[in-house]
Amino acid sequence: MVNPVFQRGMCFKNSKTFRETVKKYAIMNRRPIINCRNFGKKVQYVCQPPCRWKIYASPMHKGSVTYQIKTYVNKHTCMPTFNQKQINSKWIADYYEMEIRMNPTWPISAFHKKIVNDLKCNVSKHAVYRARSRALKRINGTHEEQYADLWKYGYQLKKVLPETTVKILTENPEPEQVSGRFLRFYLCLGPLKKAFKAHCRKIVGLDGCHLKGPFGGILISAVGVDANDGMYPVAWGVVESETTDSWTWFLNFLCQDLQILVDKEWTFISDR
Ligand SMILES: [Zn+2]
Repeated sequence: MVNPVFQRGMCFKNSKTFRETVKKYAIMNRRPIINCRNFGKKVQYVCQPPCRWKIYASPMHKGSVTYQIKTYVNKHTCMPTFNQKQINSKWIADYYEMEIRMNPTWPISAFHKKIVNDLKCNVSKHAVYRARSRALKRINGTHEEQYADLWKYGYQLKKVLPETTVKILTENPEPEQVSGRFLRFYLCLGPLKKAFKAHCRKIVGLDGCHLKGPFGGILISAVGVDANDGMYPVAWGVVESETTDSWTWFLNFLCQDLQILVDKEWTFISDR
């Protein structure tokens, strides 16, 4: 779907997928394709006259949601356009969501330059700005919702896997308060814990890496070695930064979970 190639008889999940694919084709090939009148369930796109390019799809058979290309005239006599009307902020937000996610502070001018370079089209900086805001809202929204769901997630895990250890630390925790501003998270799934204690060597690797989401933080993990010398995840967590305090917080739970009592018996691997 990076650059769709059509063929007569080709099927699509539904009419929406077909429409999106044609739109993608128009953008990638810089063709002034428009959706001409839809008649009933039939969908037809044509290029700007006198160009004769056209594509026509309808349900595969009566009552079917699957769309099939019934007619395809794949010959352009038009010139590629630099003013592609199909590109709007919504399309940009969808198309570049992953890149915006990885780089939420991407400057508008650099982002604009990339779009013009990728798609060879005229896009206003204002449209790029709206696209970034739109994508960020979606990305941050889902992150916020997911952090807010952590307590429910922990509760469900403990319900299904009773031996699981879930610890959530919030800022200014009140004794009666269940939720608060997120600070740290620790998780050791019951079955992993049980199997590690029963079958794995007493070796634990510890490391952390930066989280690239809108709230930052560090993902820290404790990994063992399984019988095939493969990595065996034991416990992981999220902390605000790698400090003696945050690692101590994490390792205290790990010691309880793995019953590390005599540290001479254990080997720890870490970069510091
Ligand atoms: Zn054309």
